[in-house]
Amino acid sequence: MDTLVETPLDGLDAATLFSSGAGLTSDDVIILPGYIDFPRSEVCLDTHVTRNLRLKRPIVSSPMDTVTETKMAIALALLGGLGIIHYNNTVEEQAEMVRKVKRFENGFITDPVVLSPRHTITDVDGIKQTAGFSGIPITQDGTPRSRLVGIVTNRDIDFEKDRSRPLEEVMTTDLVTAPRGVTLSEANKILRASKKGKLPVVDEDFRLVALVARSDLLKNLNFPDASKDARKQLLVGAAVSTRDEDRDRVDALANAGVNVIVVDAAQGHSLYQQRMIAYIKGHYPEIDVIGGNVVTAQQAETLIHAGADALRVGMGPGSICITQNMMAVGRAQATAVYCVASHARRFGVPVIADGGINGIGPMAKALALGASAVMLGYLLAATQEAPGEYFYEDGLRVKRYRGMASLEAMAVGGAKRYLAESDEAVKVPQGVSGTVVDKGSLHDYLPYLMQGLCHAFQDMGCCDIPSLHAALHEGRLRFERRTSAANREGTVHSLHSYEMPRFGIR
Ligand code: GDP
Ligand code: GDP
Ligand code: 5GP
Repeated sequence: MDTLVETPLDGLDAATLFSSGAGLTSDDVIILPGYIDFPRSEVCLDTHVTRNLRLKRPIVSSPMDTVTETKMAIALALLGGLGIIHYNNTVEEQAEMVRKVKRFENGFITDPVVLSPRHTITDVDGIKQTAGFSGIPITQDGTPRSRLVGIVTNRDIDFEKDRSRPLEEVMTTDLVTAPRGVTLSEANKILRASKKGKLPVVDEDFRLVALVARSDLLKNLNFPDASKDARKQLLVGAAVSTRDEDRDRVDALANAGVNVIVVDAAQGHSLYQQRMIAYIKGHYPEIDVIGGNVVTAQQAETLIHAGADALRVGMGPGSICITQNMMAVGRAQATAVYCVASHARRFGVPVIADGGINGIGPMAKALALGASAVMLGYLLAATQEAPGEYFYEDGLRVKRYRGMASLEAMAVGGAKRYLAESDEAVKVPQGVSGTVVDKGSLHDYLPYLMQGLCHAFQDMGCCDIPSLHAALHEGRLRFERRTSAANREGTVHSLHSYEMPRFGIR
């Protein structure tokens, strides 16, 4: 007769897996399959990237000068992630990049660029070149304080050969406007009905209060997962160093409307970082701060107490990184993510796994070990949206990708995160520069990565990040150590020849 026996759980819980004393990497770990009781379409990748900011996709781009500038930050935010603009540039350059991301999409444009009837078409051309738009409300004296008298759009000036003509001769004056106090939904309705490109919002004296753009409605329609703030502007982050002089950078970034500041240090456990976090939180409590990098619970504790709203985890796992061998310090990344995430969880502080994520599998493992998001350098560096031009190397289309502490990046001002003193004559690199193979547009590549991630969630038997983390910490998510033989078995073997699918990991 059968007696009911409880089947023991296969594998190990994470606490046991990581208690051996040896640091484990992503490749050292495999996750045992869970139970699937939901379709893949129900997997939800929503996450808290910081204490206060939510994203639809758990993806953050690295603040590196070959990864994140305006184009990457806009594309990633449209697709539901978050871009962090690097600081290997002047304060003005970095703040301008932030400003461009914030201006890309809007609900109400509350400080629209305006001109006067005496300005010329050439002035509109100039705005088009620097700011990217040409729908310009015209007010009596060219400031928002005076009466609205017309609007100039592309259609008014497209075919005009004489660019010196004053705007009063070409502007449209039969305006459809909305009164101050109109809600965004109402304004959008009027805009749709009017079939115009712009809707000026005016007060009782017909002074311009705001502008609503039809193109923003389309962006909202085409990118339903976009990461946006309350004003419907795209979310954007930017990095600063821990140096006191970068307080000016913080001020400029805050002024430009940045949502998140990453305090960038390879070894984040420092007095300098504590002070920088305190400065940002003291002066700009509305800006979330991502502290790091950390790999131990002790480091994490310091930065959490200093006020960090999220932690960036990783010391040495990056694809361009030689820190562990050069400096003898660091930690294997799977262990680092698990240890820091387990500790930070008690304080409600999310963790971002940074470095070494070279495909969907490592991304899924980082999230399964407690990370709420992953930070990507290598994976994004060869997309069209990353800075730099493509060129050919060994018959392959590639882009340059370099560590911020590579000799090349240090030569143009990098390495501030490695506490390099500016007057140091001898530079010890902690990164390399190289090339990465073309990945096409982020608009195709990110959906591919996210679809793969949904497969992984389904196989793990968890339909979202909170339930994955609950399974991890309650011991229901089961793991095994992966031997080198298991690693070999788990990749392609025995074939005479084969073709790796595009974006596959060898
Ligand atoms: P335009 O017709 O050339 O003005 O361009 P679009 O309407 O296609 O796009 C304008 C985009 O720029 C929208 O996403 C706006 O939210 C954004 N934008 C940001 N600031 C301003 C501004 O001051 N004026 C205008 N016209 N657009 C702005
Ligand atoms: P919320 O949660 O109340 O902010 O709701 P929604 O995000 O759905 O937006 C409220 C209204 O704003 C709806 O009418 C949206 O269509 C509209 N909306 C959302 N994003 C944008 C945008 O970027 N520009 C404009 N003009 N309208 C937007
Ligand atoms: P990847 O995605 O390429 O594996 O790793 C990117 C991460 O590597 C970055 O987010 C950053 O934390 C780290 N990193 C960037 N440049 C350097 C460098 O020059 N040296 C080291 N040690 N790490 C770097």
